Amino acid sequence: MHNLINCYASANRNDFPGYNYGGCLITPVDYAATVAMIVNSKRWISAAKPNIVIQDNGGFVLLLREQAGKEILLDDSKPLIYKSIPNPTVYHNVQVARAINPNILIVTDWPVKPLKGKAAQEAEFEKKLPYNIDAANKTIELLSRDSHDMKLYVAFQGYSLNHLKKFFGAIYLDDFDGVSMPIRGQSLEQTALFLLKIWQMGFQNMHLLGVAGLFPMALAAYFARHFFILVTLDGRGWKIRAMHSEYTNPHNLQTVHVGEDVEIDPEVYMDCQCPACRGRSFLYYQNLPYYFRRVQLSTHNFWAIEGLGKQLFTHASSISTLIKFLRGKTTRVKEIGQLKNALSLVESLKDTDLDQLENLLK
Ligand SMILES: [Zn+2]
Repeated sequence: MHNLINCYASANRNDFPGYNYGGCLITPVDYAATVAMIVNSKRWISAAKPNIVIQDNGGFVLLLREQAGKEILLDDSKPLIYKSIPNPTVYHNVQVARAINPNILIVTDWPVKPLKGKAAQEAEFEKKLPYNIDAANKTIELLSRDSHDMKLYVAFQGYSLNHLKKFFGAIYLDDFDGVSMPIRGQSLEQTALFLLKIWQMGFQNMHLLGVAGLFPMALAAYFARHFFILVTLDGRGWKIRAMHSEYTNPHNLQTVHVGEDVEIDPEVYMDCQCPACRGRSFLYYQNLPYYFRRVQLSTHNFWAIEGLGKQLFTHASSISTLIKFLRGKTTRVKEIGQLKNALSLVESLKDTDLDQLENLLK
């Protein structure tokens, strides 16, 4: 059965809405760096009962350290965190997966930098390509030694359809059940073409990183309904909003500031039925001490994202029903037009080989 599920990255026992609501995304460094952390994570997951558990490899930390000019450590013989330096090797990622047994394991990767300009992007892609191919193949090799029921997603790190072709030409596609890909900085149309190409290659499952906005989620909902079996998403935008005392409107994902420094009309009605909001008002949030407000808003914001994701999926039976639903939710006419164009493009190209198309566009 087709599905769209939002996953909560960096959730904890206090702020996950709980009991079969959305999924969660964990990383080895944050959740499994010691035996005690693994025990705690397993206990928390079995209590929270997310619909799906995804283990991301935490390659993002490599990118952050690289951008900050800090030492990079990738050494199987040293622990996952060595002298405060993260060491997210393929070996550690697999070891943690064996212990946690997630539903989906995203294989180890080294993300490309968010660069502009074709020459810089080519150089960055080529620089990371050998590591990313080797990491994907090594994960398969390590896991082939034991039986498991995890779905394996390969992580694509590149900037163009040509990069996609090059990367996937170097690994054995049948080894993987899905693809993980970030969408940061891409237009809806670009993301749509990547998704279409990945679907054309025969993949049935997709994980998109960095999705917390209404329109990328609407695009994902359409692909979940018509192309892939399962599309999972994770983004941190809504969590960051919670840290800034911003409440996500569950109807359109717009934000309302509920910090103590703003005036809130007590007559403004809050209709959310999530575990954090039920029976309460905006003033409740405003009067909470910061820590509790942040925790409650994290719960609420994730609830709002996942709830709207489900509605988008329900209304994505056709481009026109999805667009009609969005018109009833938001006045963002420009983005509605962009989404409509992107989806129309997808429908018109779905039976066309995109490799040929890219050659024509060169
Ligand atoms: Zn709520």
